[in-house]
Amino acid sequence: MKILEERIKKDGLILNDDILKVDSFLNHQVDPTLMMQIGEEFAKLFADTKADRILTVESSGIAPAVMTGYAMKLPVVFARKHKSLTLPDNVYTADVYSFTKQVNNQIIIDKRFLHPDENVLIIDDFLANGQAVQGLLNIAKDAGANIEGVGIVIEKTFQRGRKLLEEHNIRIEALARIAEFKNGEVIFTED
Ligand code: 5GP
Repeated sequence: MKILEERIKKDGLILNDDILKVDSFLNHQVDPTLMMQIGEEFAKLFADTKADRILTVESSGIAPAVMTGYAMKLPVVFARKHKSLTLPDNVYTADVYSFTKQVNNQIIIDKRFLHPDENVLIIDDFLANGQAVQGLLNIAKDAGANIEGVGIVIEKTFQRGRKLLEEHNIRIEALARIAEFKNGEVIFTED
């Protein structure tokens, strides 16, 4: 997605060999116009699917997932990372190792918002080693739901997330695919 690649080049900050900071438009401050374009792009790419709902993980997946849900007219559920007092005991959980924070989080979805035999689309901000998406896949499997596909805003192809998902035969659509960071520049894959 050209406009996203241009924005990454303009506003993305390379923190080290494998982390890109995009907190001026996606992870902290959010650009709603760009998010809407991202939602419309995912809606186009997944127009052939029969999704009933969209799943993501708080907090950075919420903005692109909500815009995709708006474009596809689907409800959006985000897995929580902290069990709140208002969350009932009737929940699905999975353990996720956080790539950026280097801690294990439990992600939680209330059973009222995910049902057996539903078709689910997963949307997330980044694909690195695939742990966040794997956690959502584990929850969907527990619930007896089917995965229609995974939509990723920014994939880093030098990490092993895609390989992990392809081993599960999962369809992945990524809007920007980063091959490497070189001399302080983001290099996208040629495809
Ligand atoms: P994974 O579970 O695929 O290893 O990592 C995915 C999660 O880690 C994403 O949801 C995102 O929040 C975070 N993440 C992974 N790589 C990056 C990165 O380069 N920059 C930022 N800002 N977040 C990342």
